[in-house]
Amino acid sequence: HVVTRIAPSPTGYMHIGTARTALFNWLYARGRGGKFLLRIEDTDRARSTPEASEAILRGMAWLGLDFDGEAVSQFEQAARHREVALEMLSKGAAYKCFATQDEISAFRAEAQAEKRSTLFHSPWRDIPASEHPDLPFVIRLKAPRDGQTVIHDEVQGDVTFKNADLDDMICLRSDGTPTYMLAVVVDDYDMGVTHVIRGDDHLANAARQSHIYHAMGWSLPVYAHIPLIHGPDGKKLSKRHGATGVEEYQEMGYLAAGMRNYLARLGWSHGNDEFFTDAQALEWFDTNGIGKSPSRLDFKKLDNISGQHFAVADDAALLQEMSEYRAVQGEIPFDETTNAMFLTAMYCLKDRAKKFGDLLDKAQFITVNTPIIPDGKSAKNLDAVSRGILMELTPQLQNATWDRETLEAIVAGVAEAYEIGLGKIAAPLRAALAGRTATPSVFDMMLVLGRDETIARLTQASN
Ligand code: GLU
Repeated sequence: HVVTRIAPSPTGYMHIGTARTALFNWLYARGRGGKFLLRIEDTDRARSTPEASEAILRGMAWLGLDFDGEAVSQFEQAARHREVALEMLSKGAAYKCFATQDEISAFRAEAQAEKRSTLFHSPWRDIPASEHPDLPFVIRLKAPRDGQTVIHDEVQGDVTFKNADLDDMICLRSDGTPTYMLAVVVDDYDMGVTHVIRGDDHLANAARQSHIYHAMGWSLPVYAHIPLIHGPDGKKLSKRHGATGVEEYQEMGYLAAGMRNYLARLGWSHGNDEFFTDAQALEWFDTNGIGKSPSRLDFKKLDNISGQHFAVADDAALLQEMSEYRAVQGEIPFDETTNAMFLTAMYCLKDRAKKFGDLLDKAQFITVNTPIIPDGKSAKNLDAVSRGILMELTPQLQNATWDRETLEAIVAGVAEAYEIGLGKIAAPLRAALAGRTATPSVFDMMLVLGRDETIARLTQASN
C-alpha cells in the first residue's frame, strides 16, 4: 500500500511549488487508497519559525489537502536520528571524523591551489577506534568511492552519479544534532513512506541518501523527482513573475478546486484534458504523466480553469468558500438575510466569475447600501421619461406572480406600450435596482431581491 508525504521546511511562506508537490503526493496516495503524511522539516532551528509552519497548515487546508494523522516535527525525532547514526557507526557503515573546521578549510585551499577536487576526504575514514582521540567528532557516512550510484526515477529514468563525486557526508554533527540528509531518510523510513515525490533539486540528494538506506539495510522508496515551476518567460520562478506564495492565490480570490486543477496541470498531463474534477484527477494521476522539463506559470490559463470551476461549483459550497475568502480579506461576515440572497443569486453570480472578486462585484446589487445613489451613467438612464416608465411598471408588479416568466411578460408589456425596445427599459431598471450599468440581468436581480425590495427600489428611483 502507498504512503506519500510532503516535507516542507518552515522557513517562510508556503511556496506554490511546495503546494504542487503536496498536491501530487496527495493525488498519488488518495487515488490509490494510500496515506498522505505531513512532516515539517524544522531541523534547521535558526531558520524554522512557527509562523511558517502555520502558513503551511493554512495553505494545505485551503487547498483541501488533508493529511493522515498528526503533522510530524522532524526536530522532535532527533534522538531517533542519533540512534541510527550510532547504529551505522557500529555496523562500520559510518565513522567518527575528528577533523576540525580549520583542517577542512586548509585541505580545500590546498586542493584548490593544486587544482585537485575539493571534495573532502577525511583521514579518519579507516582509523581504528583504538586510535581515536578524546575530542569532538562528527559521524560521516562511509560512502563508496568507486563505481557509480544509479537512482531509478519514475520521471527522470535511470540517473547515474559517479561515486567519486560524492563525499562522505556528515550524518551527525559534533553537537549530536542530525543533518538534514540523515533526518530525511530516517523519517521517511520510520513513517513508512513508499513513494517520494519531490522537486528535482533533490535528485542528487537521492543518490547520497540511498547510501544511508543501503547502510541500514532498508529498501529504497520509489522516487519521482519533478521539474521545477518556471515563470511565464521560462526563467526560474521569482517574485517579479507575480505571486509565488499559495496564500496570495487565496487572497486573489481563486477557487481552491480551480487551483488544484491548475496546479495538477502544472507539470502533469492527461491527454488533452485541461479542466477536470478532483474525482477525475484522483483517478488519472500517475507519475508517468509528469513532464521531464520545467512547467511555466500561466495566469491566463489559471483564470480560465478557475472560471470553469466557478461555473460548476455547488452554490452552498461556493457561499461557504466566499465567506472564507472575505474573512481572509478582513471583511465582516454578511448577515443571514444577505447570505440567503447570495445563495439564491449564486446561479447567476458564478457565471463567468474567475475570482471571488468578480462574483462579489456582480453581487453589488445585493450588498449595495439603500437608498441607492446611482452612478453618473445610471443617473442619465433615470431621466424624466424613464422615471415615468418605472412608475408605470411598479404597480403592475404589486400582485404579479414572482417568477421569471411573469416578470418578463410584464416588462415586455410596458416596453410595448411605450414602443421602446427591451434594452431601453432595462437601463432605468438597472439604474433603479443597482445604481450602475454592469449588473446581472434585471430579471435575475428582481427575482433575487424579491417583490418588496424591488418595488421599494423602483419607487425610490422614480420619485
Ligand atoms: N524539506 C525539503 C524541502 O523543503 C523536502 C525534502 C524532501 O522532500 O525530501 O525542499
